[in-house]
Amino acid sequence: MTANELIYAGKAKKLFTTDTPDVLWVEYLDQATALNGLKKDTVIGKGQLNNQITSRVFDYLTAKGIKHHFIKQESATEQTIQRLSIIPLEVVVRNVVAGSFAKRFGLEEGAKLAQPIVEFYYKKDELDDPFINDAHVLFLDVATETEIAELKAQALEINQVLIELFNQLGIQLVDFKLEFGRNQAGEIVLGDEISPDTCRLWDKETGDHLDKDVYRREIGGIVSVYEEVLRRLEQLEGEK
Ligand code: 5GP
Repeated sequence: MTANELIYAGKAKKLFTTDTPDVLWVEYLDQATALNGLKKDTVIGKGQLNNQITSRVFDYLTAKGIKHHFIKQESATEQTIQRLSIIPLEVVVRNVVAGSFAKRFGLEEGAKLAQPIVEFYYKKDELDDPFINDAHVLFLDVATETEIAELKAQALEINQVLIELFNQLGIQLVDFKLEFGRNQAGEIVLGDEISPDTCRLWDKETGDHLDKDVYRREIGGIVSVYEEVLRRLEQLEGEK
């Protein structure tokens, strides 16, 4: 299988068609962005790190019975996925107070939440992806009531599996962003990526940030911390 026609060029990924209508080809780029694209840099090696990390995380989800769009890692920077019609929502799950949640409620980062919290953000760059509630999701007609319940249930189930995975890597899963889409059968399926670009990952011993916050907050280098996450995933794989 090979990449054919470019159909989408995003901030960190390019999407191509393949010879199979239901299968798309993804290329991970050496691009880092933050603040909705206002901060942008080329980071050599980032594309292959995110591709390899995401591929391993999706393989882990497969082993745990979670359905998703990922098919196969095709090269260092490329993978194939099932074509989905993407739902324009960012589904964020939080286990620990951090980021925009800490800011919104005037809290220090770091307190563990009694229960995970699922939030929706409307994916619209020109509006800066606003925080929205269930009624807004219905108003915007992006998902039905049943689908909202399904999105929340899947997000919480994925959270449990990811907490367990990262725990084995000595990492606390603070929060993360998921995107979902509908497949040909109309089922809701997990899409996009799961990487240090989309998750907050804190080293359990040192509290060090092993995620994109090193770039957003200018407190470290992306490549070395993403390499550390990949190294721990590979080590876990080697132990099995
Ligand atoms: P926050 O709302 O605190 O900024 O982000 C919560 C979590 O979702 C973080 O793990 C963050 O990485 C992820 N997240 C939220 N919005 C985006 C986004 O637009 N792009 C990426 N890559 N991650 C996001």
